[in-house]
Amino acid sequence: MEKPATPNNRYDVVIIGAGPAGTSAAALLHRVGQDVAIFERDEFPRFVIGESLLPHSMDFLEQAGLLECCKKQNYLEKHGGAFFDQEKHCKFNFDDQFTDGWPYTWQVPRDHFDNVLAEEVQKMGVPVFFQHTVKDVQVGSNPTVEVTGVDGQVHRISSRFIIDASGYGRVLPRQLGLDEPSTLTHRKSVFTHITGDHRPAGRDEGTTWIVSLGQQAWLWIIPFSNGRTSIGVVGDNDFFADLPTEPGEILRKAIMSDPVAVRRLSDMEFVFEPKVIDGYSIGIKRLWGEGYCLIGNTMEFLDPIFSSGVTVALASANLTANALIRQLNGETVDWDTDFSDVVNQGVETFRTYVEGWYTGAVPTVFYSPNPDARVRASICSVLAGYVWDNKNPYAWDHKRKLPQLVSLVQTSDDSKV
Ligand SMILES: Cc1cc2nc3c(=O)[nH]c(=O)nc-3n(C[C@H](O)[C@H](O)[C@H](O)COP(=O)(O)OP(=O)(O)OC[C@H]3O[C@@H](n4cnc5c(N)ncnc54)[C@H](O)[C@@H]3O)c2cc1C
Repeated sequence: MEKPATPNNRYDVVIIGAGPAGTSAAALLHRVGQDVAIFERDEFPRFVIGESLLPHSMDFLEQAGLLECCKKQNYLEKHGGAFFDQEKHCKFNFDDQFTDGWPYTWQVPRDHFDNVLAEEVQKMGVPVFFQHTVKDVQVGSNPTVEVTGVDGQVHRISSRFIIDASGYGRVLPRQLGLDEPSTLTHRKSVFTHITGDHRPAGRDEGTTWIVSLGQQAWLWIIPFSNGRTSIGVVGDNDFFADLPTEPGEILRKAIMSDPVAVRRLSDMEFVFEPKVIDGYSIGIKRLWGEGYCLIGNTMEFLDPIFSSGVTVALASANLTANALIRQLNGETVDWDTDFSDVVNQGVETFRTYVEGWYTGAVPTVFYSPNPDARVRASICSVLAGYVWDNKNPYAWDHKRKLPQLVSLVQTSDDSKV
């Protein structure tokens, strides 16, 4: 892909970061004629974790005009998720949902996937300036960014609006002091890609496996169509205190502790040295201000257990683009009502299920021996990312419905809920 020349002095919208949040926001704005540019710190392709999509992400990719390019990539189809805890086992199939949503999605190596999206938005006509790091941002009525290019040259670029999609870079939260400690327990993750994964055959090949390693720790197994598989363990400080300190040894020991993991991964070979992210959960004070907003991982990030990250990133990009198009066309936008409240509704639903995972409430429901089919389908839709479905009480009324369900499962003799 031909690199764009030097940046202009002004764009309608400047986007920081070319992850899925940044590229999908850019595509939506560009298609209605806004002059958008993306500034990306790294050269692509680049590694990032977060490889299991949820079905609702397909809706957002489609709306941004980014679905067709993904369909051509032969990504492994993911039709559901399987959960294992010693002798207990349960599986959710996305074609068995309450919401009338996508019945499948993909497992995507993110270096490849993010590059496909970035190339597609460039084909659409959006300039993406790789190896251009946003160092300083002035927000307000005349937003400006200071960008350092690959040659060390500094560009000052003004715009009508800045979208911070810098993910773990957290450009604006750091600069404006927006970060807040997460309400969730401090957890760490160690992960890599492997070969030698003994996968299930057929339609189940692409299913995400989550293997519990006690109540506070778990292992993910996310297979790709290139023959490699992503594996990672997540746990709190107590879990890691009992393990070696070397990341490869952590993974080997964690896998050896569980018979399901051993059966599948006994012949694994690491493709690269395992990586560590220590303390990934982060809170945020607000999602927008005059001349800017935050999308994707720059907002709050909860936990990887339900693979919600990219779906929330795409959803927030979609909401921002829709609100911003109206604002740039002269309409008054209430960013709290039209953006923050909607994003937070989905994040809060996921939070209830993430917290419930670690308290044991969610596993109690998942492993219930005689689950009600309609309740199960409703929960399946939450796991598919349809957390904004206001017809699904397990999405919008999550705070009340989940505990109610847990007590029904616990008190009911036949566990019929
Ligand atoms: C252990 C773990 C496992 C996860 N597993 C999953 C999963 O299975 N499924 C899922 O959906 N999510 C998962 N996630 C979450 C996922 O990683 C993120 O939600 C997702 O990458 C967010 O996309 P994004 O576009 O917001 O940010 P990113 O993809 O991180 O993109 C941000 C971009 O901004 C660029 N950038 C940063 N700083 C600057 C700067 N100063 N100037 C210019 N550019 C900059 C970066 O180089 C990067 O390319 C996981 C997270 C963790 C921690």
